[in-house]
Amino acid sequence: MRRDFVANASHELRTPITVISGFAEALCDQGDEKIRAPLEKIVKQTERMQQIIEDLIILARLESKASPLMHDRVDLQEVVEQVYEDALILDHGRHEIAVNVQPASIMGNRVELQMAINNLVTNAMRYTPEGGIIEVFNSVDNDGVHIGVKDNGIGIMPEHIGRLTERFYRVDPGRSREQGGTGLGLAIVKHVLDRHNASLHVQSTPGKGSVFRCDFELFDEEKKEKAA
Ligand code: ADP
Repeated sequence: MRRDFVANASHELRTPITVISGFAEALCDQGDEKIRAPLEKIVKQTERMQQIIEDLIILARLESKASPLMHDRVDLQEVVEQVYEDALILDHGRHEIAVNVQPASIMGNRVELQMAINNLVTNAMRYTPEGGIIEVFNSVDNDGVHIGVKDNGIGIMPEHIGRLTERFYRVDPGRSREQGGTGLGLAIVKHVLDRHNASLHVQSTPGKGSVFRCDFELFDEEKKEKAA
């Protein structure tokens, strides 16, 4: 019931907020200087609300039994490269963005996986000061297949790490909001990984940086290959 309520409420809010945002933008463009500043605030806040609603709708979909996981072979090297290209556009040159790829694939849903890794990169951009280095990587070893993001940003104190995937949990709510965060990105990542039988591993040192790594199981055929 709670799940349905959140999904329905998010859908109901979508249209009125789009209307408010449309009118506010139109009024802003009309250029009455006296009311420009408050109108710009309305536009900014409605954008934030839209982002939160979109993330709540994504979470509701991921939780819904009506949308089972499509199982295709997903080339992780392609996922990393696509995420990298999107990151270059979004980042506007604020960071040095690098990739480190190996041939690897897993069974799963490409769109969901790309969304999850995109969320990790967006976080790395948000919590790494300008000029920092962000690396998108994938790798394979005896423990399984991995894909993730590494940054040399602000890092996270150990007491927060176990709670980061809770909805709306933020280490610094002010900083997250200022950077356009919804507090839902890692909850989305966790849901996508749960649907893939995978897990999120976070390693971080305050002031030095973080690694967010998604761990997938090896397929039976790959286990056999490794054993041979
Ligand atoms: P948000 O929209 O606030 O970024 P997320 O669910 O994506 O929400 O992340 C939860 C919190 O985890 C963030 O508010 C931030 O405090 C912390 N966090 C996530 N990624 C990083 C990172 N790469 N470096 C430092 N802190 C991070």
